[in-house]
Amino acid sequence: MSEVVLAGDLGGTNLRIAAIDTEGRIVHRAEAETPRGDDESDIVEAIKRLAAECLERPGRQPRAFGLAIPAIMNAQEGQIFISPNLPELNGKDLSSRLKSELGIRVLLENDANAAAIGESWLGASRGFDNSICITLGTGVGGGIIIGGEPLRGPDGTAGEIGHICVEPLGPPCGCGSNGCLEQFSSASAIVRMAKELLPEYPGSGFRDAEVSEASRIYELGAAGDALCVEVFRRVGMYLGIAIAGLVNVLNPEVIVIGGGAAKGWDLFAGPMREEIAKRAFREPNVLESFAPNSGATQD
Ligand SMILES: [Zn+2]
Repeated sequence: MSEVVLAGDLGGTNLRIAAIDTEGRIVHRAEAETPRGDDESDIVEAIKRLAAECLERPGRQPRAFGLAIPAIMNAQEGQIFISPNLPELNGKDLSSRLKSELGIRVLLENDANAAAIGESWLGASRGFDNSICITLGTGVGGGIIIGGEPLRGPDGTAGEIGHICVEPLGPPCGCGSNGCLEQFSSASAIVRMAKELLPEYPGSGFRDAEVSEASRIYELGAAGDALCVEVFRRVGMYLGIAIAGLVNVLNPEVIVIGGGAAKGWDLFAGPMREEIAKRAFREPNVLESFAPNSGATQD
């Protein structure tokens, strides 16, 4: 009987668990809405239920459970510092609790670092030792691989690309700073910028009351709506500014961009490449990547 591990993606909206074989192939997957409560108990119960579903077939003994979570954390010690979208996890020892509930080894990882490691193992940056992975979801996540290993830093918080400042007087960010990349290139920023620009584009098809999703703004932009085209130009411009800085500091071989808002690629890739070419020492390959179930990194 083949060995499996359990892999999980805990997002602000959805919880996905899968049994994976040693080659990285998905044997079974299960999904549910992320339950919200006063503490981590509801999340732990949901994880147990989905894990049991993934292991229903007899003989499947998982070796370990790896869970990607949207948190600033120390993955090696399993310590969660802050989870802006799931504050019930702030400061919690989720790792020990899951270990005692599931009876197997548990490894927690920041979701963007997990994406970078996954792309490096089996995805778009496979075969490259030095890569950067940027996920455009509700927020902007980042993972950096240098010399084949994730760059973590002494506290484990390295790679927070979404909180690079690209506009010093820009909008306030949840991290306490201003004008972070996340305030311009995330799905929530796309919606905010569209609302801000509406008075300047009275002929736009974007209507605040009826449109609340970034994907709708992309559809309008793809059809030529000037407001929505301008929103994605800004997404690309600010992304390009941040990437150029990363290229000059880290000299990566490849940059992978994924997450739900990467669906706007056609509209933001041009302005992004322009900024990189203008500002970086040498333009690397910039690849677009989607997880199999698009939106897996959207939370
Ligand atoms: Zn920030």
